[in-house]
Amino acid sequence: MEKEKIKLLIIPFLFFISILSIIVISNNLSYKFEEEIANINELYIYGNHLNLKGTLEKNINLDKLELVLFNGKEKKYELLFEKQNNIISFYISSKKNNGILLDSLNISNNMVFLKATTNKKVKYYKLHNKTDYKETEYYTIRKNNNFNKILIKESKDTLNINVIPSKEDNIYDIVVDAGHGGIDKGACYNGECERGITLALAKKLKQELEKEGLKVKLTREDDITDDIKFETYGTDGRIDRAMSSKAKYLFSFHLNSGLQSMTGTEIYTTNNIDYTLAHSIVNSIVKNTNTNYSNNSIFRVDKGIYTRTFREHEITSFEKELKDKKIEPYNITTNTTYYYIIRETGGFMNGAYVDGRDNEKNEYYNTNVGLESYIMELGYISNIEDTKDIKDNMDKYVSAIKEAIIENICK
Ligand SMILES: [Zn+2]
Repeated sequence: MEKEKIKLLIIPFLFFISILSIIVISNNLSYKFEEEIANINELYIYGNHLNLKGTLEKNINLDKLELVLFNGKEKKYELLFEKQNNIISFYISSKKNNGILLDSLNISNNMVFLKATTNKKVKYYKLHNKTDYKETEYYTIRKNNNFNKILIKESKDTLNINVIPSKEDNIYDIVVDAGHGGIDKGACYNGECERGITLALAKKLKQELEKEGLKVKLTREDDITDDIKFETYGTDGRIDRAMSSKAKYLFSFHLNSGLQSMTGTEIYTTNNIDYTLAHSIVNSIVKNTNTNYSNNSIFRVDKGIYTRTFREHEITSFEKELKDKKIEPYNITTNTTYYYIIRETGGFMNGAYVDGRDNEKNEYYNTNVGLESYIMELGYISNIEDTKDIKDNMDKYVSAIKEAIIENICK
């Protein structure tokens, strides 16, 4: 009898599945693609967004160009485009940390193509991945202890985004980097050094973020003793620890030093990004602690926000330094991110360049999946009041930073 019941249930179930697949297949077939295929010339993930740039060689005047993700249903992203000599160049966003929010995609297999509208007439074009990155892998940020793996590669002559549930180990959401450590004490004033304060803060922040269900990796855990050297590169270095975590964000903590009159909080970012998260963090710190936006004006792009790339004279002197060592200079431009922790965790998008030609090597320098990284200078250790505030009210700093992170990346 039981078997009969199961049989009775299986038949309508199979019927339902076959109807469903007919609908999906026929929907899929309803797209008539043009002969011309658009090219993808740049494809990367920065933080938790996918960005791509491409070209379509076709002499048409477009009213609208969209990127379609099709999994039975269409999800559309309006593209920015310009036309020059019958070539249409398109991109999702000019900001590195904008584009397709990968965490918002449901578990599904998505065919990706262009939808071009001219005078209300629609044409579809497939997308050929011309980049060196034939297969790009990403893990979404945990929600209720679940996360997905996303695979981006060409399939059936067009780009494909496959979202599948993941149970893989050692996948992190966030990296917290306590600046300096061991023999590198950082800046020290009145018996206080950066290495101790940054580590205490990093550990507290990890704890708080984990209470919210995120998985957090520290780049260093405990030792602040004089004899330990924390490497930057190599398999146990900060960069490798950060990159192998498959995290999406990195927050590196420091205290600044300067003239007695210098005071306040600074957050450093890479260039060409949307500053929403940076604003949110620095505003939250200022609102919930006794500190203020830093009074330092060099590299400042907004209250408390600083974007630091190489300057011409820095590039020239660095080139000379390498030439003297008979090493071919790196391809550094005024677009290259200056601080190593932001640059080297940001792949080609931030101009990571440590490729082994000068002793050190970052295995991930050429990646197209980068961490969205920030350096936070939480006040000046050279200023007695700044140091006192961060030591006395560390919990307030930690909770202010945590609130801003959760609000922005777990929505
Ligand atoms: Zn420092």
